[in-house]
Amino acid sequence: RDAELNEINQLKEKTKAPGEFQNASLFSDLPLSNRTKMGLKKAGYKKMTEIQQQSLPLSLCSRDILGAAKTGSGKTLAFIIPVVEKLYKECWTPLDGLGALLISPTRELAIQIFEVLKKVGEFHGFSAGLVIGGKSLEEEKKRIFRMNILVATPGRLLQHLDQTVGFDVSHVQILVLDEADRCLDMGFSKTLNAILGHLPTERQTLLFSATQTKSVKDLARLSLKKPEYVSVHEKS
Ligand code: ADP
Ligand code: MG
Repeated sequence: RDAELNEINQLKEKTKAPGEFQNASLFSDLPLSNRTKMGLKKAGYKKMTEIQQQSLPLSLCSRDILGAAKTGSGKTLAFIIPVVEKLYKECWTPLDGLGALLISPTRELAIQIFEVLKKVGEFHGFSAGLVIGGKSLEEEKKRIFRMNILVATPGRLLQHLDQTVGFDVSHVQILVLDEADRCLDMGFSKTLNAILGHLPTERQTLLFSATQTKSVKDLARLSLKKPEYVSVHEKS
């Protein structure tokens, strides 16, 4: 316990501002908790992809991110790692309720994110759940209260925000909007705006998208504070 508090203090110190780790190419070069490092190692992740290299040094320092990189570039780890690290540094426990919200346009993508979260977060003690519909709303209602991290689709999440009595998002520390362009293409603009209206303004936000359309920029303006722009154009 003491060793862990010591680790947390060191991590907080190192992630006040991006330091020499801005040039890191391996996950092991980043200021990450041992628990996260163990999860990454077990899953076989060693070298960062381009979008991870560019965004993680900033997102780990609590900066808002507007990230663009095509499908398959490794965006999932680029947001899961800062989510887990944020809650770890805040000494978040299952009793603290919802601390992180990850929004994804489709059920399938949400499930994929959840699987990566389970792997990388295996050695952390956070509770995590899916809010994607398909199962009974009542079932979800019962579980939703116990979760520290939720991976959700926009429609179902808003349904809970409007209908599930006592579902409290006022302490959310970090919000992830994944595949923002697709969310907007699917007509979720109003839903996302309504969700944003429920969230505390003091929070970190990471917005990832494969393309930077006008509507993505509008959503970015609504949801991000002084974002860092990270964009990767791969050579073909
Ligand atoms: P995106 O969300 O940008 O489409 P994903 O996060 O789904 O990309 O990652 C695509 C694939 O690359 C996945 O199979 C994932 O396991 C793998 N991957 C991601 N980051 C790394 C990494 N640093 N090293 C090796 N494989 C990785
Ligand atoms: Mg993805």
